[in-house]
Amino acid sequence: MKNLQILHADMDAFFSSVEQRENPELKGKPVIVGGVSRRGVVATASYEARKFGVHSAMPVAQARKLCPQGIYLPSRHQLYQQVSREIFSILDKYTPLVEKLSIDEAFLDIKGCERLYGNPVKIAKLIKADVKQQTELTISIGLSINKFLAKLASDYDKPDGLTIVNANSVKSFLADLDIKKIWGVGDAFAAQLAQLNIFKVRDVWPYSQEELRNRFGKAGSKLFLLCRGIDQRQVSPGSEIKSVSHEETFAENLLDKDKLLAYLFKMSEKVSFRLHSNSLKGKTVFIKIRYADFSTLNRQISPADPVASAEKIYYLAKELLESNELFSHPVRLLGVGVANLTAQKQQQLNLFTKPDQNNKLDETIDELKRKYGFEKISRARKLYLD
Ligand SMILES: [Mg+2]
Repeated sequence: MKNLQILHADMDAFFSSVEQRENPELKGKPVIVGGVSRRGVVATASYEARKFGVHSAMPVAQARKLCPQGIYLPSRHQLYQQVSREIFSILDKYTPLVEKLSIDEAFLDIKGCERLYGNPVKIAKLIKADVKQQTELTISIGLSINKFLAKLASDYDKPDGLTIVNANSVKSFLADLDIKKIWGVGDAFAAQLAQLNIFKVRDVWPYSQEELRNRFGKAGSKLFLLCRGIDQRQVSPGSEIKSVSHEETFAENLLDKDKLLAYLFKMSEKVSFRLHSNSLKGKTVFIKIRYADFSTLNRQISPADPVASAEKIYYLAKELLESNELFSHPVRLLGVGVANLTAQKQQQLNLFTKPDQNNKLDETIDELKRKYGFEKISRARKLYLD
């Protein structure tokens, strides 16, 4: 696949931009949408707010310190979903091959659409103009030869960007990119790569695929390919987000229950953040646990009311683990997730924006946070995004 046929489209500061459109007085001002409670995190910060260092997934308390003059608003999920539907109906017009990644982001395969709409660059420009005209909002587009490069490209020149990476410019586009921008490279992997003096994509190039596979297994092989801009994945239309989960493999097997619960809470926060970023809640909470001998167990629970808050996800997952006595052997991997997803309604906002009613649970969480410094750790944005 060497043609410019994959397009990644991503709305700019989506929730904040919608709020600025709805209330023109907010235009040009630092608008921060997200939890307005003590424990909330920023869902979206406008570009004006980003100048103060505020970014998504940052605790609201920290954002208020960096940007006290900011305008802090609660999320209006129904409104964002409605705008999202308008955007997707524009995208659907150009090609049937639209893969939805989140509420404001999609891959499009535009092969074969040229006769109808013109060359790929023309199509990208038409989409941008359509979105602007129909929603008064801007969308950034990356156009390239595969999904991996298209997604990097859309991020390259935000907001209102249009970045084209053709087969001839792949090498120069990737060379100086931070290695953490590569899919599958989280903090742990990046730390291992740093030991080999690998910080940028170009630092990977001297290594052969065999060397990287021997050192890092499958992940090494994948790294080799991505750093050369090779990605064979197809755009798969109709794939909706079915579940949101997070898991961690521990460097050493863990038996310390408090520590495991602390990890569980950290992961519940990440899951909750992704649910809120997509205006979703879920009817099922599930856990996955793998022991030192590689045996793996999955358990799930479906509470009466759908959940989205970190506190509720954590509480239900903890119940699953404790009632099944799953912490009796050393743990190699722990995961938590939410499935059976539905759109978040306006009322559910309270789950996110108000402190949990259960004071005892709050105390437990605060204690865990104190003990393991999670308030501090939570400030790292990538925790939520890797
Ligand atoms: Mg976006």
